Amino acid sequence: MSIASGLLRSALDLLLPRQCLGCGANGTYLCERCADRAERPRPELPPESGPLSGVLAPFAYTGVAREAARRLKYRGARALAPDMARPMTRELALAAAPPFALAPAPLHPKRLRERGYNQAELLARETARALNAPLLRAAIKRVRDTPPQVSMANLAERSANMRGAFAPAQPVDGGTVIVVDDVATSGATLTAAAQALREAGASRVYGLAFARDE
Ligand SMILES: [Zn+2]
Repeated sequence: MSIASGLLRSALDLLLPRQCLGCGANGTYLCERCADRAERPRPELPPESGPLSGVLAPFAYTGVAREAARRLKYRGARALAPDMARPMTRELALAAAPPFALAPAPLHPKRLRERGYNQAELLARETARALNAPLLRAAIKRVRDTPPQVSMANLAERSANMRGAFAPAQPVDGGTVIVVDDVATSGATLTAAAQALREAGASRVYGLAFARDE
């Protein structure tokens, strides 16, 4: 992405009126009432699968949650991140006892250049700040660019698509790590990221997403 388009995107970001995507209320992109009414994911917590001890998410990928996730990912609406991280923070605080660190699911450098930011990192940073938890920005890296998960037919394909997509990059000091993504589709991305975090030294890894699409 060129500097000019990055600046343009930042300008559009600033112009986005701070109004609830659900009801239009002023002062927030996602008001408490719409967050309370938004659909919850099902099942709430999937059974432990391999390196991932569970996935937390405040919302199902539908309605206002889907709208927010799409704007953050595809329309450069970085300003949404703090309001989206608030319900994630609540979800995590209810489910997991500190100490833990947070790590965003990394984008491949090529995608990062295209988009200019990693939406998962924005959410992880806000959540870590709110909980006063360390943010592990570079514990793992994306070593393989993969076709979008949405183009995959089923869980087996998605898992195969993600296998080996991440690798450990910096040692993690044992303990629990929360790997953060914007949307968890099958859990395949979070599972692959969790595997790399375990290889980096994490003793336990949970996933945290803004919304779960299943
Ligand atoms: Zn609202």
